[in-house]
Amino acid sequence: MAVNPNKHPMPAQAPEVRARNFQEVALGYTAEIAQAEAQRCLNCKTHPCVQGCPVNINIPDFIQKIKFEDYEGAYQSISLSSSLPAVCGRVCPQESQCESMCTLLVRAKMEPVGIGRLERFVADWHNSHATGKAEPPAQNGHRVAVVGAGPSGLTCAGDLAKKGYAVTVFEALHTAGGVLVYGIPEFRLPKAIVAKEVETLKELGVDIQTNVVIGKTLTVDDLFEMGYEAVFIGSGAGLPNFMNIPGEALKGVYSANEFLTRSNLMKAYRDNPVTPIMKGGRVAVVGGGNVAMDAARTALRLGAEKVYIVYRRSLEELPARKEEVEHAQEEGIDFRLLCNPTEILGYTNPDDPRDPKNGFVTGIRCIRMELGEPDASGRRRPVEIPGSEFELPVDTVIMSIGTSPNPLIKSTTKGLEVNRKGGIIVNEEGLTSREHVYAGGDAVTGAATVISAMGAGKAAARAIHKALSARCEA
Ligand SMILES: Cc1cc2nc3c(=O)[nH]c(=O)nc-3n(C[C@H](O)[C@H](O)[C@H](O)COP(=O)(O)OP(=O)(O)OC[C@H]3O[C@@H](n4cnc5c(N)ncnc54)[C@H](O)[C@@H]3O)c2cc1C
Repeated sequence: MAVNPNKHPMPAQAPEVRARNFQEVALGYTAEIAQAEAQRCLNCKTHPCVQGCPVNINIPDFIQKIKFEDYEGAYQSISLSSSLPAVCGRVCPQESQCESMCTLLVRAKMEPVGIGRLERFVADWHNSHATGKAEPPAQNGHRVAVVGAGPSGLTCAGDLAKKGYAVTVFEALHTAGGVLVYGIPEFRLPKAIVAKEVETLKELGVDIQTNVVIGKTLTVDDLFEMGYEAVFIGSGAGLPNFMNIPGEALKGVYSANEFLTRSNLMKAYRDNPVTPIMKGGRVAVVGGGNVAMDAARTALRLGAEKVYIVYRRSLEELPARKEEVEHAQEEGIDFRLLCNPTEILGYTNPDDPRDPKNGFVTGIRCIRMELGEPDASGRRRPVEIPGSEFELPVDTVIMSIGTSPNPLIKSTTKGLEVNRKGGIIVNEEGLTSREHVYAGGDAVTGAATVISAMGAGKAAARAIHKALSARCEA
């Protein structure tokens, strides 16, 4: 049978409709589409897609099960390697991971199998059909503390709980999920999906303590004194970077993290929110990653009349997922490429210091760029074109130029070594410079991906189990 050269398209809300609502953009495959897409998998002998997955999901196995309409079997197959399939099916950059290795793409030059879309289908099918609760396994008498309830911490906690450890997760915010709840917007990842995955972990016996900031409420050393035998730090990279240009302290300038947290977690889009946000007007988002796309598309849904992406390289170097860029373009986000801000402009009324408009953003001054020789990252370096400055009138500026690990835990944990970017230094098992203290995810690598954070949580759970088992046998 001839293979369809193209992936089955993902049903989605129409751009003009979705640009003004927070409901999920991609609607998911139906069983019929999933069947048809699964038939495209050649079940080739070498299974290169598995090597492309950071947690080595047995992709051909779950796709074969879809072909036989064994959707629960497919879910169980994925669950052996991934604790967050409904999340990963939605937000993993499959195009640079499993799908980039697909034989259909590499050998036959066709579109790869839609692995991510099939993973999402299976996870959603399970969530809407499965009944009953996860059974907590018999306890082994050992206690482990996890710092941070993001994908790395939750994965580490889940894997250890399945082995019988009593795991407590300490989370600084009032809700578990990390970036999955405070960063990635509802229209890409509904919060109910994250809540469901967190609920499953609780059923396994994981205790999640929210509103506990490690480094303030308790320290890592306190956790050992409380009887925890190992600690995993999965505290992410939530400290925003700024450009250090004039005007960044004006009213109406946000970091993308703050903007998205106010919208996602603090529900600033509602009437009379506790932590309000600038809505409407003209918005410039500086940066070109997934975070910038999320901030721009959120601003649009909050009622902005015009949203710009200001990015210093060209479309080719834009680091956001291709799908997210296409979605943003379809929704009408205006991409100002090869432009870099040099100053944020503000309003001052010297005649009336009490003028309520004083100190607010009025625009952004940019300079045009061209691409020079490749830099250390291999991407062509953006170079300013002298005399090419121009102004963009805007009311809000959202800085989305990266984040770093917060130094709080390092500064309160003696002997914990970090690199020059603030990432916690670990060995291949996730062990830090402190005995029985492990770390993983963005806290180690800096801002990366959900699946790599999960992979690190898994590796650390294996290492913790090995170390604590060896200690018991000794
Ligand atoms: C807006 C946005 C969009 C993204 N989109 C994608 C995407 O599409 N695909 C993708 O793969 N990746 C995406 N990423 C990146 C991805 O979400 C992260 O790489 C991933 O969440 C990292 O997981 P983590 O567990 O290491 O950290 P986090 O998810 O950051 O979780 C860390 C948790 O630790 C808590 N914490 C921090 N300090 C403390 C402390 N001192 N005490 C207690 N708790 C603490 C935090 O509150 C947080 O809940 C995106 C990131 C952002 C910000």
